[in-house]
Amino acid sequence: MTKKTRKKELSFEDYTKGITSGDRSILSQAITLVESTLPKHNELAQEIINHCLPSTGNSIRIGITGIPGVGKSTFIETFGLYLTEKEKRTLAVLAIDPTSERSKGSIMGDKVRMERLSLDPNAFIRPSPTGGSLGGVAKSTREAVLLCEAAGFNTIIIETVGVGQSEIAVDSMVDDFFLLLLLAGAGDEIQGMKRGIMEMADTVVITKADGDNISPAKLAKKEFDNAIALFPAKEGGWIPEVTTCSSLENKGIKEIWDIIAKHHDLISENGVLDKKRREQAKKWMHESILYGLEESFYSKENISKIISKLEAEVVGGKKNPFKAAQELLDTYFKNSSE
Ligand code: GDP
Repeated sequence: MTKKTRKKELSFEDYTKGITSGDRSILSQAITLVESTLPKHNELAQEIINHCLPSTGNSIRIGITGIPGVGKSTFIETFGLYLTEKEKRTLAVLAIDPTSERSKGSIMGDKVRMERLSLDPNAFIRPSPTGGSLGGVAKSTREAVLLCEAAGFNTIIIETVGVGQSEIAVDSMVDDFFLLLLLAGAGDEIQGMKRGIMEMADTVVITKADGDNISPAKLAKKEFDNAIALFPAKEGGWIPEVTTCSSLENKGIKEIWDIIAKHHDLISENGVLDKKRREQAKKWMHESILYGLEESFYSKENISKIISKLEAEVVGGKKNPFKAAQELLDTYFKNSSE
C-alpha cells in the first residue's frame, strides 16, 4: 500500500470557510490556486476572492525592499517577532523574487529564511512564487494579500528584492507604507538609489547599525536625512523619516513600528488611506488587463510558432524590432478576430 494519498480537490465552500476561519493550510492552498495559470483554477480563484473581498482592507500593508544582503530576512524575522509578541499583532509575510524567473534559482529561496518567525503561531510566511512574469507574480501577490486579510491577518509585509522593476511593482501593491532598507557605506549606485525609489520610501532604515558599523550608520542617517529633506512631503502631509536598526541586537525595531503606526494613524484620519486604496483598485484593474493580454498573447500557438524566428532576426540586426512587434501584433489580432 502506498502512503502517498492524493489531496482531494477543495470546493469553493471548503476554501471560503477555511480562509475565513483562519485555516493556514487552506489559505496556503488558496494562494497556490491564485498563482496557477490554468483557466479552471483562475475562475475558482476569482470566485473565492470575490467572496472574501468584504472582509479585506483591514490590515496595515507594509512593503519592504532592499538589495540582496541588506538584511531583509533578518529584519523581518526580528520585526515580525516584535509585532506578534509585543504588539500582539498577526502577521503574514509575502515575498516577491523577480530573479527567480531569470536565474531559475531564487536569491530568496536558496537559504533558510526566518526560521523562528515561521514557527510563530501568529505569523504566516509565504515564499515567493517561482516562475512567471513580474506582472503575473505581482497580480498573484495582490490576491494573496486579500486572502491573508480575509483570513484575519492584520499586518501584511510584502518583501521584494530590490532589483530593477520590482520596487515599482511593489509600490503599486502596497499603498500603506513603503520601507526602504539601505546599508551604510555602500555606494549609491549599487543600492539602486535612483531618485524614484528614494521618493517612494515612507521611511528609510539603515540596517546593521551594530559593532563597528554604528558610526557609519549614524553618518549615513545624516546624509539621507539631508537627501530626503529635499523631497516634498508625501500625500497627506507625511514627512519620510530616516532611522537605523540592528536586527541582530534588536535595536531600533520598536521605533520603526512606532513610525509605521504613526503614519497609519495619520493617513487613516485624514482620508488618504481610503483614497489610496480606491485609486489602487483602479490601478489593479488596469494592471490585470495588461497581464491578461500578455498571457493571452504569449500563449497563442500562432505567436509561439513565429516568435523565436523574429527574435533571432531582431537580435541579428536583420529586422527592425518595431516592425517585428507589429508583425506579431497583426498575427495576434487577426487570430483573435477569426
Ligand atoms: P537579505 O538578503 O536582504 O534578506 O539579507 P539577510 O537578512 O539574509 O542578511 C544578510 C547578512 O547580513 C546575513 O549574514 C546576516 O546575518 C547579516 N545581518 C542581517 N542583519 C544584521 C544586523 O542587524 N547586524 C549585523 N551585523 N549583520 C546583520
